[in-house]
Amino acid sequence: MAYDSNNIFAKILRGEAPCIKVYEDDQTLAFMDLMPQADGHVLIVPKEPAETLLELSEAGAMAAMRTTRRIAIAVKKALGVEGLHVMQLNGAAAGQTVPHIHFHVIPHAAGSVLRVHAAQRADEEGLKAMAERIKASLD
Ligand code: 5GP
Repeated sequence: MAYDSNNIFAKILRGEAPCIKVYEDDQTLAFMDLMPQADGHVLIVPKEPAETLLELSEAGAMAAMRTTRRIAIAVKKALGVEGLHVMQLNGAAAGQTVPHIHFHVIPHAAGSVLRVHAAQRADEEGLKAMAERIKASLD
């Protein structure tokens, strides 16, 4: 299917919609998930227009993984959680709800249960405070 440039992440990348930014470089943007499955849930979005990992270039995939790893390290450092999910869904059939490739970094404290995917909006001030903590832990 052709890439839909009206999706919300494309709008965020073009600066037409807001996000709570954690990190940015030439090829990737990382920001807080608005409906986090756990506190500290960050999305890493390649700037290249591609719907899924299958359409993303090899260079784009490498850049996305580099940033994802960096964010995962910062999230672990900031929150001190025992576990972390790195998740990436391809296609609506697999549960992808935004048709622009992205990776999720979701902290998972021992014994906790993740919240439902893309279901409940978090308080914006809380997300901003969490973004500051993660940014302060970026190497
Ligand atoms: P997917 O289902 O495509 O793997 O994940 C999309 C993610 O984007 C979900 O975790 C959802 O909570 C998040 N999300 C949806 N709309 C927005 C938005 O407008 N801003 C941000 N920051 N996150 C969003």
